[in-house]
Amino acid sequence: MPSIHKLSQSLINKIAAGEVIERPASVVKELMENAVDAGATRVDVSVTAGGSDMIRIVDNGYGIEPEQLPLAIASHATSKLNTADDLFSVGTLGFRGEALASIAEISRLSIRSRTADAPGGAEIEVVGGEVSEVTPCGCPPGTAIEVRNLFYNTPVRRKFLKKPQTELGHISEAFTRIALPLPSVHFTLRHNDRLIFDLPATTSWPERIGKILGKQIAAALIPVESEDGDIRIAGYAAHPGQNRSNNRMQYVFLNGRHIRDRSLQHALGEAYRGMLMTGRYPIAVLALEMPVEMVDVNVHPTKLEVRFQDSGRIYSQLLSTLRTKFLSSDLTTQVETSDESDPSGAHDDQEADRIRQQVVDWAKGEVDAWRPASEGEAESESSTPFRSGPSPAPLSLNRLDRSWVEPADEELPSTGEPVPSGPSAVGGYRIAKALQIHNRYLVSESRDGVMIIDQHALHERILYEQLRRRIEEGPVESQSLLVPEPVDLPTAEAAAAMEHQELLATLGLRIEPFGGDTILVSSYPAMLSSVSVSEVLRGLLEPLMAGGKAPDSRDMLDELLNTIACKAAVKAGDYLTPDEIDSLLDQRHLVDDPHHCPHGRPTALVFSREELDKKFKRI
Ligand code: ADP
Ligand code: MG
Repeated sequence: MPSIHKLSQSLINKIAAGEVIERPASVVKELMENAVDAGATRVDVSVTAGGSDMIRIVDNGYGIEPEQLPLAIASHATSKLNTADDLFSVGTLGFRGEALASIAEISRLSIRSRTADAPGGAEIEVVGGEVSEVTPCGCPPGTAIEVRNLFYNTPVRRKFLKKPQTELGHISEAFTRIALPLPSVHFTLRHNDRLIFDLPATTSWPERIGKILGKQIAAALIPVESEDGDIRIAGYAAHPGQNRSNNRMQYVFLNGRHIRDRSLQHALGEAYRGMLMTGRYPIAVLALEMPVEMVDVNVHPTKLEVRFQDSGRIYSQLLSTLRTKFLSSDLTTQVETSDESDPSGAHDDQEADRIRQQVVDWAKGEVDAWRPASEGEAESESSTPFRSGPSPAPLSLNRLDRSWVEPADEELPSTGEPVPSGPSAVGGYRIAKALQIHNRYLVSESRDGVMIIDQHALHERILYEQLRRRIEEGPVESQSLLVPEPVDLPTAEAAAAMEHQELLATLGLRIEPFGGDTILVSSYPAMLSSVSVSEVLRGLLEPLMAGGKAPDSRDMLDELLNTIACKAAVKAGDYLTPDEIDSLLDQRHLVDDPHHCPHGRPTALVFSREELDKKFKRI
C-alpha cells in the first residue's frame, strides 16, 4: 500500500506554478502586476524568443529591502495581505504571494532591487528553487526581475510552448490588459530588442486606448458613463461600424484589474443588438469601480474571473448605460462622416478609378468560375439586355464591370410596371432602376415597399464578397517589385510587421527588415497594384496592432479584403450613370447578406408599403 507523506516545498511550488504560470505571458502578467502594486510610474518589459529565453521587467517602484528579498520569493509570502478579512477587501493586483515562488521554481530567476532611500541595491538569484545569498549590487531605485529559461526543468510544459510569434501574441495581450487601464504609467514592451509598444504616461485615457487599439478604433469611441449608488461604470464603447469577428476586443476592468465576465459580455452584445451583423462583436473598454467588499476576487488562480455580490444589478446597469447612450447619439451621422473622410484615403478621383479598374480586372477572371453555370451562361452570351453591343467593355468598366452582371434577378427591384427590368429608352433617356439622390443614396421600389440603398456600402459589400470568393479559390497572387520599395513605419508598427512576416507573405505581401524602422517590400498582392504599398501596409497593421495580439490569418484576410473593397467601391458623392445604378442593383444578389456592408452597417433601409400607408394615414 502506498504510504502517505508530505510533499516537499519544491514540489508544492511546482504544482502551484502549474496553476499560475501557464506560459511566458503569465510571467509577464504577474511581474507587471507586482510593478504596478509597487507604485511604479514606469515599467519596461523586454522578452526574447517569445519569452521562453528571457523575460525582464524593470520598474521604478518602491523596491524591496535586501533582507526581504528571500521572503519575496518564498511561497505564501506577501506584503499585501495581513488578516483573513483583508482577503475580502483586496485593493492590489496581487495578494496570493505565490507568483515569485512559482516562477522561481521553474526558471532561473534574479531580482535586483533598491528602495528609494537606500544607498545601493541588493540582488538574489534562484535557480530551480535553489536560493542564493543576497549580495549588494548597483542599481537604480526600483526593481528589475529577470526570468531566464522558463520551464527548463519542466520539459512537458516547455514542449507545449508555441512558436515565439504566438507566445509574443499572448505576452502583448497580457501587457495590454495591464497597460490599458493605467494611462498614468509609462509602459514599454520590447521583443528581441524591437520596440513593440511605447506608451508614455498621459492623463488622457482615450489617448492610451488609441495607442494600443489603433487610431481607427480611437476615432470611433463613444464615451459612456453611469453611476448607480456605489457602482460606477465609465469607459468607451466603439461605434458599431467598428466591430470584430470575436469578443477579444472587449476589455472590462474591475477596480483596475482586467476581468472576463460572461454576463457582462452578454450585456454588451445585447446593447448592440440590431446594430451588428450576427457573428460580429462590439469593441469596448470599460472600467467598473465598486467598493472592494462587493466583489470576491479570490475565486480563480489567475484572478481572471471574479464573483460579484449582485451580478444582476451590474448587468442591467451596463446594458442600460450603453442603450441610453446609443439612443441619444446620432450613430447615423457618424457613419456618414466616416464615409466622407474615407479611411482608405482614395480621394483623388482618377486614382480611385484606377484602383477600381484594377480590382475589377483582377476579380473578373474568376466570376465565371463561381457563377452558376446553367442559365446564366446562356443568357449572358446571347441576349443580356444591358449590353449595347457584343463587347461588354465600353460600359463604364471603371465603376462596375458589366461582365459581372447576371441576368436580372426576379426578386430584385421587382418592379411591377413602372420601372422596366432592362434599360428603356424614353425619348433618348435611359431610366435607371433606381433614383440616385444626393449622389449617395439609391431609392428604388421593392416588391412591397421602398428601398433606400447606400451606394458605397452596397458596392463595398459586393466587391468584398467577390474578392473573398476569389481568394477562397487559391492563394493570393503576388507581384514582385523590380526594385523593392522601402517603407518607413512607426517603430511599433515596423516591429509588428516583422513579427507577422510569415502571415503577411501568405497574403502576398513579402517584407524584410531594412534597418531602423524601415521595411523593404519586395512583393505585394497583385490586386492592389496601384495602391501605395505603404498605405496598404499601414491599413493592415493598424488593426493588426490592435490589442497587440497575433491575429489569425482569417482576421488578416478579412482586414485586407475590407481595405481593398473600401478603396475600390464607389464613394458617397459619386454620380452614377443609369447603367451603373442598374449594374449595382443587379449585383445585389451576389452578396450573401445584402443588408450589411463589411463593416456591419446596413447597405439598405426598407420601408414597407404598409408602413408608408400608415404614415400617410391611409390605414
Ligand atoms: P503577491 O504579489 O501576491 O504579494 P508575489 O509572489 O508576486 O506575491 O510577490 C511577493 C512579494 O514580493 C510582494 O508582496 C511584494 O512585497 C514583493 N514584490 C514583488 N515584486 C515587487 C516589485 N516589483 N516591487 C516591489 N516589491 C515587489
Ligand atoms: Mg504578485
